[in-house]
Amino acid sequence: MKYKFCPDCGGKCEKKSFKEYLCGLCGKSFWDEPDIGAAVLVHNPEKGYLFIVEKKEPSKGLLGLPAGYVDNNETLEEGAIRECREETGIEVSDLKYSGSNIYQVELNGVEYKGVTAFFTAETRQYGKPNDSTEVEDVVWLKKEEIVLEKIGSVDSREFIRRFLSLFPSAKQE
Ligand SMILES: [Zn+2]
Repeated sequence: MKYKFCPDCGGKCEKKSFKEYLCGLCGKSFWDEPDIGAAVLVHNPEKGYLFIVEKKEPSKGLLGLPAGYVDNNETLEEGAIRECREETGIEVSDLKYSGSNIYQVELNGVEYKGVTAFFTAETRQYGKPNDSTEVEDVVWLKKEEIVLEKIGSVDSREFIRRFLSLFPSAKQE
């Protein structure tokens, strides 16, 4: 259950219907709807594909894509571009929507569910770890160097699996 306590006043919430939770103290309603995320697979013609080395649990030490929640008043594309800039310092162009995956993570006993929109994009920059809390390092991999098992988050791994299966000839590049 997403709204055990009211995000506004801290009162105890009761489930009212399928998706609605009602605060017993202030009476506000909250809906258990998916969080929206955006992620981007960045390509540099000289270097390959950009991955970050995750600094935070539950994926610490594993690879991930620049990704995060979309802010208010921000499109999916803007969210993907901003997260990439914040995490790696890289500016991307030629964003292309490449499908979405559902995710579900449990952190400190709270279950977070959402959907992530995946994009591909291009850059000429190399980047560096730009976010000291989330990013340990940035690495560039050629397509044939990508190992799915090293990708921490399930939704990103599924996206990369799909991406690689769409371009199997890349193995010979
Ligand atoms: Zn309340």
